[in-house]
Amino acid sequence: MIYLDHSATTPVSKEVMQAMLPYFCDHFGNPSSAHQVGQITRIALDNARNTLGKILHCSPSELTFTGSGTEANNLAIRGVAEAKGKGHIITSNIEHPSVKNVLKDLEMKGFKVSYLPVNKQGLLDPVQVKNALRPDTILISVMYANNEIGIIQEITKIGRIAEDNGIPFHCDAVQAAATLPLDVERLKVSLLTISAHKIYGPKGVGLLFVKKGVLLKPQILGGGQEHRRRAGTENVAGIIGMSKALELVQIDREIKNEKMKALRDFFITEILKNIPGSSVNGDKEKRLVNNINICFPGVNGESLLFRLDMEGICTSLGSACSAGSIEPSETLLNTGLTREQALSSIRFSLGEMTTKEEVEKTIETLLKIQKTLIH
Ligand code: PLP
Repeated sequence: MIYLDHSATTPVSKEVMQAMLPYFCDHFGNPSSAHQVGQITRIALDNARNTLGKILHCSPSELTFTGSGTEANNLAIRGVAEAKGKGHIITSNIEHPSVKNVLKDLEMKGFKVSYLPVNKQGLLDPVQVKNALRPDTILISVMYANNEIGIIQEITKIGRIAEDNGIPFHCDAVQAAATLPLDVERLKVSLLTISAHKIYGPKGVGLLFVKKGVLLKPQILGGGQEHRRRAGTENVAGIIGMSKALELVQIDREIKNEKMKALRDFFITEILKNIPGSSVNGDKEKRLVNNINICFPGVNGESLLFRLDMEGICTSLGSACSAGSIEPSETLLNTGLTREQALSSIRFSLGEMTTKEEVEKTIETLLKIQKTLIH
């Protein structure tokens, strides 16, 4: 099997699994318990928070653990909006559904939202953000890297605009966390989301950085966990797994990125050279090192995906979250693709363990299959 869907999810690395294992049967205490069994997990939880704080360059008390990246995005956006009560929010028109759908819901409740368009390369011009500011703007939310086309936005520039105007800036870094730096000071963000299962950690664990001073209305009520920002007994093993996973991602990051970038560029060059009319969706340079999104003209993307799957190659149509529907990806349409082009596009996402042989085999299979699918 060749797995080229790392943007959907990644396997849990063996070291992450080892780090988590003691916290199921041996150290099972509730970190809120006063006794020694609880205190063992409390210390482990604090250590995980400290590790994550160092990587993100923030205080551990500015971190809130959640049950997913989706929940962290909901908490950030709805939390800030509901703390303010009313106002205007700025975002891009290619955000993940866990951002977009929260904003749509807030619009129904009277909030105003500006969905700024990206250009054909998938890039948002920070000047547009500046021009969209209004006296009642309460939040800016722009993703670090897109889940479908892997385009990396100019977060620091947007952050500077937000900072200069005293507006909280939320950044969905779920897709970026596996390969890009997450220094919240340098990025100039006041809220940042990550998810463990995109970085070789477990599913069902998310993290939200909330800068000191940013007001947030909790979305899950109950006990006083997570500095009263998110009630519920912590997923201790999962959080330890996420902390270990983010630590491991930092090791030799540049070397791993160079390897994936070389494979990505080899893949793209070979496909464009050998499949007439094929094209890359989104900017070729300002994209994640592991993202390849290609339009195969005249080919139905869904049929291509199923044929590749039959050959043992796992890929994706747009994002996993919208897979299963035959509607064209809104992100691709918003970069100017036609409905036909969007429905002929496939995403291949590489991982740290992807080999040259796997990429070569995929290219060979694609060249063989796509001809038979042209309609
Ligand atoms: N944001 C982006 C950009 C994503 O790609 C995803 C998942 O695909 C999420 C948020 C949601 O994360 P989770 O799967 O942890 O809910």
